[in-house]
Amino acid sequence: MLFDGTAFAPRSSQRYIAQLDVSQANQLSLRVDGDIISCDLQYADISAPLGKLPVKFTFPNGWVFTVERTVSVNQWLASNKRSSLVDKMEANGLAWLLSALVCVGVVLSLYFYVLPWTSDKVAKAVPSHIAVSLGDKILQSLDKSWQESKLSAEKQQKIQKRVSQHLTQLEALPYPIKLEFRASDMGANAFALPGGKIILLDDMVALAEDQQQLDSIILHEIGHIYHRHMLKKLVHSSLLSVGVALLTGESSGVVDNLAGLGVFFLSNGHSREAELEADVFSKQAMLSLYGTSQPLAEMFERLQEQYNHDVPEWLSTHPDFEQRIQAVSE
Ligand SMILES: [Zn+2]
Repeated sequence: MLFDGTAFAPRSSQRYIAQLDVSQANQLSLRVDGDIISCDLQYADISAPLGKLPVKFTFPNGWVFTVERTVSVNQWLASNKRSSLVDKMEANGLAWLLSALVCVGVVLSLYFYVLPWTSDKVAKAVPSHIAVSLGDKILQSLDKSWQESKLSAEKQQKIQKRVSQHLTQLEALPYPIKLEFRASDMGANAFALPGGKIILLDDMVALAEDQQQLDSIILHEIGHIYHRHMLKKLVHSSLLSVGVALLTGESSGVVDNLAGLGVFFLSNGHSREAELEADVFSKQAMLSLYGTSQPLAEMFERLQEQYNHDVPEWLSTHPDFEQRIQAVSE
């Protein structure tokens, strides 16, 4: 088979009418200007043909031959497996669809698996003093709208002392636990901050009928600290906004995210999984400390009762109460 085209001498722009003989297997022969220039097919560089552009053959000695894409040229390229990936994809809508699906799959698995996994690793690698100062910053921000606790210093110290005593009997925690007492009009609530601070609002302390009920709630918050839930959530959110910022070139999201840590912390509850993990921690700790986890179930019931009509933060961010009462009851 002969292809009619144009040839260019090495390092020259002079054009020649030429023919390329492809009839011999694995061999190219260029007939130009009364000469025949041959080479092994594997040593020739054949330009990746895009759409309808001419195909370019470059010989090892520098001769170049170009030919329009005719049906026979395409057939020869196809049978010599030199058609480009783009050509193949164009010819194969299914391949496009598959590659689009693969892209979607990659993004989804990044979001659902790689991101949580990375957040988990990063949260565990954050040095304690950084976690503590992050917690302190959040507390500073929260303190703008909260007041000092009305509980007596004696009562505060008594609770802190009892909790410290409990901690000696529990599994080691990533951070030392420090209770902080505050008053707020937001209702009975408690929070675990990155770095080991637990905030107890006066209404939560008042809601507990006895020390076991109060301890069950404190232990739930210690469960959040044990699992580093808040830190993981903040890292997760930061990684996501950093990722989005990198993808879109929009960097203000990162700054907003860091500046809004306190607000973020207040308005976002833990995930259902995180709550269940903290419940399990509290239940097991209550069983080993008091031989019963019933006070936790009682506390959940009291919270639910107290806010029967108006759904408070603690309930809305601590989902599926009925189910959780069942789960922590013996
Ligand atoms: Zn919780």
